Parts: sequence; structure tokens; C-alpha cells
Amino acid sequence: MTQRLNGDGELERRYRARSLWLDGVEGTLSPRPSLRGDTSCDVAVVGGGFTGLWTAYYLKRHRPDARVVVLEREITGFGPSGRNGGWVSSGIAGRWDTYAARAGNDAVLRAERTTYAAVDEIGRVVERERIDCGFEKQGMLAVATSEPQVTRLRADLQSARAHGIREEDRRELGTAELQGMVRIPGCLLGVYSPHAARADPARLARGLADACERSGVAIYERTEATEVRPHAVRCRGGVVTADHVIRATESYTTELTGERLRYLPLYSLMIATEPLSDGVWHDIGWRDGLLIHDAHHLFSYAQRTADGRIAIGGRGAPYHLSRPVSETSERDPAVLARLEEAIRRQFPAAARAATTHHWGGPLAVPRDWCMAIDYDRATGFGLAGGYSGHGVVAANISGRTLADLVCERDTELVSLPWVGHRARSWEVEPLRFLASWAIVRVLGSADRYEDRTNRTARRTRALSSVLPPS
Ligand SMILES: Cc1cc2nc3c(=O)[nH]c(=O)nc-3n(C[C@H](O)[C@H](O)[C@H](O)COP(=O)(O)OP(=O)(O)OC[C@H]3O[C@@H](n4cnc5c(N)ncnc54)[C@H](O)[C@@H]3O)c2cc1C
Repeated sequence: MTQRLNGDGELERRYRARSLWLDGVEGTLSPRPSLRGDTSCDVAVVGGGFTGLWTAYYLKRHRPDARVVVLEREITGFGPSGRNGGWVSSGIAGRWDTYAARAGNDAVLRAERTTYAAVDEIGRVVERERIDCGFEKQGMLAVATSEPQVTRLRADLQSARAHGIREEDRRELGTAELQGMVRIPGCLLGVYSPHAARADPARLARGLADACERSGVAIYERTEATEVRPHAVRCRGGVVTADHVIRATESYTTELTGERLRYLPLYSLMIATEPLSDGVWHDIGWRDGLLIHDAHHLFSYAQRTADGRIAIGGRGAPYHLSRPVSETSERDPAVLARLEEAIRRQFPAAARAATTHHWGGPLAVPRDWCMAIDYDRATGFGLAGGYSGHGVVAANISGRTLADLVCERDTELVSLPWVGHRARSWEVEPLRFLASWAIVRVLGSADRYEDRTNRTARRTRALSSVLPPS
């Protein structure tokens, strides 16, 4: 529910506290006008994150005269779109085999390659719309620091090859090449893909919102949709009637009536250091723009920010049973300590850097961890989400796909395996909560075992039906 706060100052503080990125947005975060009274349009989009904004953006590119309205409960980029790791990274969101069982391996390979192209597409829009978000495409690196991690990365690479992913798309690095990208103590293996870019996600989301507005999209902020159904969105300020309604509320969908068990809201939390000196960066030897993640089960993902900080995140905080999506789940002392330890271990030259920001947000995890884009031509109702923590590139693909579906454009995108994909619901509580608890606890304990013994932990197998894809 939209929180009632006194005055613009308190609201601004609440928005800035949601992430390093929102904190750094220049100018004010005060909301655009809210909806006041009933209105009608061609397409009503609920949710002003990447999915909603990309959908609106591409709709206007195809149909400049279409009346497109975005309805956002807080401000654009308030949700995970303005809080994430800024990994504009390729790779399908979800399990390869699950999509392949439905659509075949070639279709999944097409989907995978679509994610490569989407990284460049985002870069093109950033340039065309002059969005100042530190977009820098230098690829992504997975690093292993123990034998079990080496085994996992090699097995992943082997299965990628078997699926048709080429050497030029993902490959093992030689020692010299790896050392030329970053110097991580005890690093045994690096696997690199060129298909990834670093960005400041809040600037990207808010720049995209501005671009949408320039093209004629009407954006209403502090406008909560209380009922989202075909042809009508009921908001606190009025009802929007539309030929097409797109629901783009990702993890927050679970707060809508009848949708509670659609996703498991799994919290991912981040920290950022103060800006580091040139000397520290020299010692770390981290190529600017390169994204780095480790190969723990509860992996950490990091970027070197455009203003010279380390921003690093990881999963690890179960949600609260009484209120699955809540701002109280966005910070956690144990995860904060684990992320600070990851910085000390991987980048010892930055060990003394102060942590200036700690934040987080809910990932939308479907029962099968696979994303979905759905559109019913008969009712004009569409939706997308369930990216399981890989939503930046996926949301761009969703936006383009939904725009094509609404405009009845028969493109390659509308035939990708996530279109029409449906996962079953999560189990009723407390079972879903127990699954989230087990994911965090079992993976954490497996990591500790592997770090201590250098042997592969088998305990993750017991929970294979609810665990993320390896
Ligand atoms: C800490 C963290 C790190 C992450 N890191 C990465 C990463 O580096 N790379 C990556 O690919 N993915 C990452 N993700 C996932 C990614 O950020 C999300 O999958 C993606 O941003 C989802 O975009 P979205 O537009 O679908 O949803 P959101 O960004 O959640 O946007 C939905 C919007 O809908 C609004 N809303 C909700 N309910 C209503 C309502 N009833 N009425 C009106 N508006 C409503 C919300 O306020 C919100 O602004 C991360 C997520 C988190 C939390």
C-alpha cells in the first residue's frame, strides 16, 4: 500500500534511502502528478519499473499516436529497477531445460542469443536518448576460489557448449588474461562472457521514464492500482479504461488479490563502499566496466561503479512470514557482514573502505524459476515478470515483446519460449516461507562447508525441487 508520509522532504528521504543509485539521482525525486479522476487510453501499463517503461517506450516507437499511460504506486524506478546491481547482463532468466522441454533446444538458444542482442539494444537506447547512467560494456567474469567452485563453473561451461553456446560467447580465461582483468587472491578459474554491461539502474530507469514522457507517454506517480483487470485499472484517484492493460509489477504482484502465491519474494541485498582512490583501484587491477561474480551457491555479484565504488550484492535474507514484501526486509546485519567479508576476501586493497550504503529489494521467483511474458489477444491483457534476479535485460525483452504483441507484430520475439510460459503457484504458507528459508540456510551452509573443506557439499541436492538452477 502507498505509505502516507508528511511532506515532500520525508518522501524524498524515503526514496533516496532505497538504494545507492536512487540516493545519487540528481535533482529531486519528488513524484510526478498523481491520477485525479477517471480517464481512458489505448494502453494502460501498471508499474513504472523497467518492464513497464520499456513496454511504454517501444509502444510509442511503433505507434507514435497511441495513448499510453503508466501508473506507478511510488516513483519510476522505486522498485528493484532502481535498486539492482546494475548488471545489464545476458543469459536466460530461468532453467534452460524447463524452457527446452516446452520449446526445444534451438528455441532456447535463440532466446539466449536474444539476451546478447538486448545488452546492445539497451546501449543503443541509452545513446539515442542521452541517458547518463554510466553504461559501459566490458563483459562479465565468474570467478572460482575453491575446487567445488571450479567444478561447478566447468560443468556450467560444458553444459553451455552442449546447448550450442559458443566459445566467443562464454569461455575459460588463461591466467594472464584473467590477471589483466582483475587480481583476486586465490582465484583458480575465471569464465568470461563479453555480453554484459555495467549501468546505474536508477539513472537508467528514470532516464527511460523521461524518454517515455518526451514521446508522449503520460506517467502518473503516487498512483496505486488496487484492481488490475482486462480493460480497466482501478486506482485510488480514478479508473483508467483501456483497450490493453499491461501488468508490470513483478514481485509486488504478490500483493494483488489472487496473486499471492505467483512468486516467492526472495530478498537480494547490496552494499556500496565509499569511492576508492586510484591507488586502491590500481592494486585491485579491476578493469573498469567489468562485472564480477563469484561461484558460491549464495553468490555475490559486484560492479565497479562509474564514481569509483564497489557495489556488491547477494541473496541471503528470508522474507517475513507476516508481510512477505516489506521495507523491513531490505537490510540485514548478517548479509551486510557477509558482503563486507566478500569485499575483504576478493579485493583486500579495499578492505578498509567504509560502507556507505546498504539496501535491497525483493526478487520475483516463480515456482520453476522461469520468466513469463503473457498476452491474451481476446482481452488485451498482458503481463511479464518472474525474472528470478535477472530482470534488467529480461525486462527490455519483455517490453519489446509486449509492444509487439499489443501492436500485433509477428516478430521473432513473440515466438520465444517464455511467451505463454506458465509456472504453477508456490505452495501455501508456511510452505513457501519454509522454501525461502531453506534456500538461504542450505546454500549458506553449503558455502561454509565448501570454503572450509574444499570439498563439494551434497546437502543442496535434498532441496533440488526448490533451488535455483545451477
Ligand atoms: C538488490 C537487487 C539486485 C538485483 N540485481 C540485478 C542485476 O544486477 N541484474 C539484473 O538483471 N537483475 C537484477 N535484479 C532484478 C531486477 O532488478 C528486477 O527483476 C527488475 O528490475 C524488475 O523490473 P520490473 O519493472 O518488472 O519490476 P519493478 O522494478 O519491481 O517495478 C515494478 C513497479 O511497480 C510498482 N507497483 C507495484 N505495485 C503497484 C500497484 N499496485 N500500482 C501501481 N504500481 C505498482 C512498484 O512501485 C515498482 O516501481 C536485482 C534485484 C534486486 C532486488
